[in-house]
Amino acid sequence: MNGSAAMLRNEKPEHPDLRSWLQLLAATDRLVVARKGVSLTDELAAVAKKLERERAVIFPSPGGHDIAVVANLFAGRDWVADSIDVPVEDLLSRFQRAVRRPLPWMEVKEARVQEEVHRDVDLLKLLPIPKHNEHDSGPYITAALLIARNPQTGIQNVSIHRCQISGPDRIGVLLLPRHTRHYYAMAERAGAPLEIALVIGVHPACILASQAIAALDEDEMHIAGALLGRPVEMVKCLTNEVRVPAHAEIVLEGRILPKLREPEGPFGEFPQYYGDRADREVIQIDAVTHRRNPIFHTIVGGGMEHLVLGEIPREATLLEHLQRSFPSVRDVRLMRGGTCRYHLAVKIEKVSDGEPKNIIMGAFAGHYDVKQVVVVDTDVDIDDPNEIEWAVATRFQADRDLLVVAGAQGSKLDPSSDKGVGAKMGLDATKPLVRGPLDFKRIHVKGIETIDLASILQQDTEAAFARIIEN
Ligand code: MN
Repeated sequence: MNGSAAMLRNEKPEHPDLRSWLQLLAATDRLVVARKGVSLTDELAAVAKKLERERAVIFPSPGGHDIAVVANLFAGRDWVADSIDVPVEDLLSRFQRAVRRPLPWMEVKEARVQEEVHRDVDLLKLLPIPKHNEHDSGPYITAALLIARNPQTGIQNVSIHRCQISGPDRIGVLLLPRHTRHYYAMAERAGAPLEIALVIGVHPACILASQAIAALDEDEMHIAGALLGRPVEMVKCLTNEVRVPAHAEIVLEGRILPKLREPEGPFGEFPQYYGDRADREVIQIDAVTHRRNPIFHTIVGGGMEHLVLGEIPREATLLEHLQRSFPSVRDVRLMRGGTCRYHLAVKIEKVSDGEPKNIIMGAFAGHYDVKQVVVVDTDVDIDDPNEIEWAVATRFQADRDLLVVAGAQGSKLDPSSDKGVGAKMGLDATKPLVRGPLDFKRIHVKGIETIDLASILQQDTEAAFARIIEN
């Protein structure tokens, strides 16, 4: 962008935000604008889905709202690489570096995201919230960063959850058994609500960082700072202690209420099925703040953007995890057919037989979603599913190279599992190491079987020996 020009003029360069990414997409012919007034029910998601592999799309005045909606921020891995300004082949290593060396955020006192404040909240009137898949229970906020604070330490966690609009100021939320749920359980045990914020419309680096498989109490916004190469500016919410990105478009401030569960779902999810309806946690919204003329970001459940967003940070984390134990691992890919979550291809520079099975076990341990692992040699292109199938066809024997683990923890959203408990399958599709012609060869002296000692040895040893030492 014009960052260096701004530096020359001794100005502070603009903080990266959603708009800087949209400007880059527009400048590279990857953004289109729909006509005004597209319907939020079914129509908007249909247009976004149709364009999901080619273009980002902005919807002005959808459903009669003043606020525009944007979808399809990522149509492939190359878009993700562009958003953090690295060549696509360096994408995973760049993300690994950011996780290894996070950059803490800095607090600011004033923020554009608080230019306008609504304390009397009616979500569907205030915001253009679409309904996405046909049998979703209704409109969902799908692209909000949920920022929560550890109730004891104040350390923040950032993650994305599906958020059903359950009432004018109420949201039903799915909390999988990870960090937000952990903080919520801490608060609920004390009988208190968990303070949170839902942040909509941020720079891609913040969205990507939220998907890192970080440890508990590792603030994902620090990873975002490392991806951006500058600390993310954060501001305190008006009604609670949560800090949110100051350059976001929209923030919903609220609390996950203790000892309360209400129906949430169904909702179209990444495995290309609906997540079920069940009693789940409830968020009470206390205030909505936003920029003047904000843009509302939405993600179509199970669409390309949803898949790619989960894919890259998971791949980087799995690669890091595997390389710690196995230096022979070169690259990993969560395959599209495996919904970018369940099926992992691992490329290795094989140095010892047997190691692929250890790598398979390591990958199962890397993330519970991983259900199938195929290990291939470096001559196989892991971006091409046909190449992986070829490796299985010509380098794999099921009785020898297959590893099955029964009854392990898996994804609750995998409909073939028993509430998330299921089997893991690993395939070693690597060639056997090329052996030298002398490997496993017993030493042997040629001629030993046919030699005739009677014709070789002299009969009179004493005389023959005397002749040798005489001189
Ligand atoms: Mn976390």
